[in-house]
Amino acid sequence: MAHLNHAEYHLEKQKAFFASGKTRSLEFRKSALQQLKALIEKNAGEIIQSTQLDLGKPEIEAYTGELGLILNEIKIALKNLKNWSRVKKVRTPLIIQPGRSLIRQVPYGVVLIISPWNYPFFLSLAPLVSAIAAGNCAVIKPSELSLNTSSCLASLIRKYFDPNFITVKTGGPEVSVNLIAQRPDFLFFTGSTTVGKKVMAACAEHLIPLTLELGGKNPCIVNDCTNIRTAARRIAWGKFFNAGQTCFAPDYIIVESSLKDRLVAELKLAIGKFYGKSPGKSPDYARIISEAHTNRLHQLAKGHTVLSGGTFDSSKKFVSPTILDVTDWNAPIMKEEIFGPLLPVLEYTSLQESLEHILKLGEPLTVYLFTEDPVVENKVRDTITSGSLNINTTFSHIMSGHLPFGGVGSSGMGRYRGRAGFETFSYKRSEFKRSFLFDTTFIYPPYKTSLKFLKKIMPFLF
Ligand code: NAD
Repeated sequence: MAHLNHAEYHLEKQKAFFASGKTRSLEFRKSALQQLKALIEKNAGEIIQSTQLDLGKPEIEAYTGELGLILNEIKIALKNLKNWSRVKKVRTPLIIQPGRSLIRQVPYGVVLIISPWNYPFFLSLAPLVSAIAAGNCAVIKPSELSLNTSSCLASLIRKYFDPNFITVKTGGPEVSVNLIAQRPDFLFFTGSTTVGKKVMAACAEHLIPLTLELGGKNPCIVNDCTNIRTAARRIAWGKFFNAGQTCFAPDYIIVESSLKDRLVAELKLAIGKFYGKSPGKSPDYARIISEAHTNRLHQLAKGHTVLSGGTFDSSKKFVSPTILDVTDWNAPIMKEEIFGPLLPVLEYTSLQESLEHILKLGEPLTVYLFTEDPVVENKVRDTITSGSLNINTTFSHIMSGHLPFGGVGSSGMGRYRGRAGFETFSYKRSEFKRSFLFDTTFIYPPYKTSLKFLKKIMPFLF
């Protein structure tokens, strides 16, 4: 087939590998997860280095954000795989007895995982853990922007796995488009809402089921707090981890007006303690992925009063942790996902009005709420639709492999991590096996049973 490029050729081989049935046994899946664990543990140094080349990731952030959480995912999967895979026996109605009714959780087949550049390892390998656990073959298409990590990932996967089982295809959007056209059996996409819409349209063409992990504007509502210092520290950490390039980072703060000055003062203090007087010299502060994104952030900050930070250096892909005083909900910075270390602070006097503003920005991936008032907690919970809700904290939900992760509406659809990931990468197949011992002949034509009699016995038959 001379006209096929390399990517096209490969998906065919994967489909054949899946059809061989090898990936389905518990032993195969467990051993593949052990192999993935070995890949991470034996190559952690090289992996961390590649994230440092792309994003200047601090070692601790690279290890925790990229690798530690995947190792935890593997641990949870290995411990629970047998239980998750258990065939469920359900009741068999009289009309089809004697027989056996079962629900099996079965893999889709060849799954395509398309990932972004901000956590290039985690966002490729965490879904892969679930894909393997459920018994699929996988093709990973990492981002073309995180060049070093994507090529490191490709070479490690090649070294540790049979390419007919798991492989990485590097390149730009055209590679994804090409792979989708070959009809993978399931698609797991992590990226922007704009591209997510295109991916979903392409999947609709072939009826490929999919999960979308998208972005959006995550509000951080500060309503009341007895411990504003701890609140500020938690917000600053969540915002400036990986220089704000985290899909579930607080995008902006909306604070009750009487608390604003104290909160800003505490945020400045926290930033100073984290990164010192010159964050550019701190080994604990990451860089922006590209010059273009650095310039985009600079543009977004323009026109707002800088309360802290405000240094932009595109040649060094550096943006300092920056707090901005924002008063206009219609400013460009309030229209798009920031995805960088700019933290707008808006104030409110009416919680109701502020919730109405938040609602207009689409469904967030997560909502951060700082309050000790249960009435406010219930109000926010019941008013805003979001993928998750974090109260008096940031980032905590991602640290648990037992909490399903994902968005809703404009921030995506579907869930993963732990059991939720296993269920996402498999589907429930109903299975019924009937005995030849007895046959309910009255169901066959010519129908002799009167309708009146049938109506009477129906409730007992089903
Ligand atoms: P992106 O959407 O530009 O790209 C993501 C991936 O899609 C890349 O691999 C890219 O090559 C590919 N792609 C681009 N155009 C495509 C097309 N037309 N068809 C198919 N694939 C295509 O996103 P990005 O800039 O890499 O990442 C940043 C975005 O990702 C932010 O919006 C962020 O919020 C989001 N994100 C979401 C999560 C989550 O879990 N919800 C996690 C990380 C990042």
